[in-house]
Amino acid sequence: MKKNIHIYTLALVILLLSCQPNQKARNGKLKVVTTTGMIYDAVKNIAGDSIEAIALMGPGVDPHLYKATQGDLKKLQNADLVFYNGLHLEGKMGEIFEKLGRIKSVKAVSEDITIAKFRASELYPGTYDPHIWFDVSLWKEAVQNVHKNLVLLDEANTAYYNKNADKYLKSLDSLHQAVHESIQQIPKEQRMLITAHDAFGYFGEAYNIQVNGLQGISTLSEPGLKDVADLVNLIVENKIKAVFIETSVSKKAINAVVEGCNQQGHDVVIGGSLYSDAMGPFEQFEGTYIGMVHTNVQTIVNALK
Ligand code: ZN
Repeated sequence: MKKNIHIYTLALVILLLSCQPNQKARNGKLKVVTTTGMIYDAVKNIAGDSIEAIALMGPGVDPHLYKATQGDLKKLQNADLVFYNGLHLEGKMGEIFEKLGRIKSVKAVSEDITIAKFRASELYPGTYDPHIWFDVSLWKEAVQNVHKNLVLLDEANTAYYNKNADKYLKSLDSLHQAVHESIQQIPKEQRMLITAHDAFGYFGEAYNIQVNGLQGISTLSEPGLKDVADLVNLIVENKIKAVFIETSVSKKAINAVVEGCNQQGHDVVIGGSLYSDAMGPFEQFEGTYIGMVHTNVQTIVNALK
């Protein structure tokens, strides 16, 4: 199995190195490729239509499990700049970024954030929670990284990028404040966010709500029976009204939690579906970073208040 992966990776690298150089001349626009939709949205807000932005991962796609397709490799090869989240969010693409980084600009948007601001993983020492977009103030630093690298790529448009970045960062300040205020509407004893996997740790710390995910900070491992039982006990003891499913994670495990609570005579409902590691359809409000955060907060507040 491992050998096969190596052969596969080798084939990818040969493909990458043998492809034609980037084709920006064709429409005159620089090409920026991102992994997640959240990063894509940051690029769009700063660069507008002045560059061609492409997101590899669409709505409902789980970045922890995502493997690059042949089509993705072509897009990466043709890119002038590649952004990814980093902190092992794109768990199956690390080797591609490393190899690609030798021939072009490949940037992790989390790279300028000081380690002290990351949530350390309890399970894997030396690794950190990659879900940085759930604390809007932390995500601002990722957006600043995107801004910095766009200016480095395309200096001639610096003034335009500066103006857009300034405006977008201000709207993120307002968003951060709005999330704070919304969460206050939930009674203190109901401020517990139960989700399928542990994506909301930064959210909990930033906005003062206790967070429990059934799976760890990656979706690579399946939750066990004990994880389900522990979570059921926690919900029953605290009389929590609602739990949440996620658009990019299977709802099977969270359904087991709901059933377990019902068997103990505690009625818990599925409070709605949250956008965790992927946004909604790009053309909709939930398909923007700001819209995704607003929609999640509405769903959480409506179910728990
Ligand atoms: Zn995740």
